Amino acid sequence: DNKIRLGIVGYGNLGKGAVEAIKQSPDMELVAVFTRRNPEALVLNEPGVKVLSIKDAVEYQKDIDVMLLCGGSATDLPEQTPHFASMFNTVDSYDTHAKIPEFYQSVDKVATEHHTTAIISVGWDPGLFSINRVMADAILPNGANYTFWGKGLSQGHSDAVRRVSGVKNGVQYTIPSEQAIEKVRSGSNPELATAEKHLRVCYVVPEEGTDTGAIEQEIKTMPHYFADYETEVHFITEKELKRDHAKAPHGGFVIRGGNTGQDNKQIYEFSLQLDSNPEFTASVLVAYARAAFRLSKEKQYGAKTVYDVTLGQLSPRSAEELRKDFL
Ligand code: NAP
Repeated sequence: DNKIRLGIVGYGNLGKGAVEAIKQSPDMELVAVFTRRNPEALVLNEPGVKVLSIKDAVEYQKDIDVMLLCGGSATDLPEQTPHFASMFNTVDSYDTHAKIPEFYQSVDKVATEHHTTAIISVGWDPGLFSINRVMADAILPNGANYTFWGKGLSQGHSDAVRRVSGVKNGVQYTIPSEQAIEKVRSGSNPELATAEKHLRVCYVVPEEGTDTGAIEQEIKTMPHYFADYETEVHFITEKELKRDHAKAPHGGFVIRGGNTGQDNKQIYEFSLQLDSNPEFTASVLVAYARAAFRLSKEKQYGAKTVYDVTLGQLSPRSAEELRKDFL
């Protein structure tokens, strides 16, 4: 059969989610996972998946249609995407918003030169949220866009909490402010500072015998991370942390309030509530791998974003079926 043959580069949270997502896609098959670590030492969630050294990927150019790049945005993808786009069609979830234009340039150059299709910055934000920001803006030119994140576990802020002295372990959730969301939904298009849109809630396991008041004070006054926000600090046990805070939930809202005609308010809203951020993000990557494969067959080479891909190219269903059952 003619399944789309996928490879995965990087076996972190996203890589694990990609293995799961491919299992749910009957038109796809996983050829191998590639890692920088010793492949023999890697413990897989899924038995039977082939794991190889990242250095061996070059041998697989004829066996893999699209490579899912699951490395981190900070340092992995700026190197890995151009490197792999010289050999494979790729999909990645690069999410450093401010640097996307230069990332696009560097990937586009390589992919154009080597006749590959590289879809960058796929996921939910950037990704599905980006699509909805553009859609709402195109439809309601007279209006304003708002993006809220959460409830979500933030890796960077959790790390900051764990660095406070006397903290044994901890997590931080970013939570959208109900008040701010209600204002936006009312159509009043308010001016909102970042700190007004979200609050920060920390669950902290203190070292035995430490002054929890001092920990709370240090967290709440931490510049950049917490000082400008309404911050809650809750102290819990290690057992409670393992039991209640082991998942990686996330999600959020894109809302646009617009006006049409004489004085008609129009509210556009898109939202996601995710139990597992990496499993959802990986599912988006897999759908876009289908599009990358099709674009490359049409010789549409170079770097692409979600704005260059049609919905039909994402779907495993035929155009006839989409017109009949989904339109
Ligand atoms: P992660 O778990 O830290 O994995 C990143 C890389 O680190 C992996 O590819 C893996 O590479 C290596 N790694 C993972 N676990 C390791 C371990 N125990 N020891 C040593 N190395 C390890 O990151 P992630 O949660 O998968 O997220 C990846 C990126 O996805 C994030 O940086 C973020 O930018 C992006 N993201 C985007 C969206 C979106 O909506 N666009 C949403 C969520 C995440 P090797 O296997 O090669 O060692």
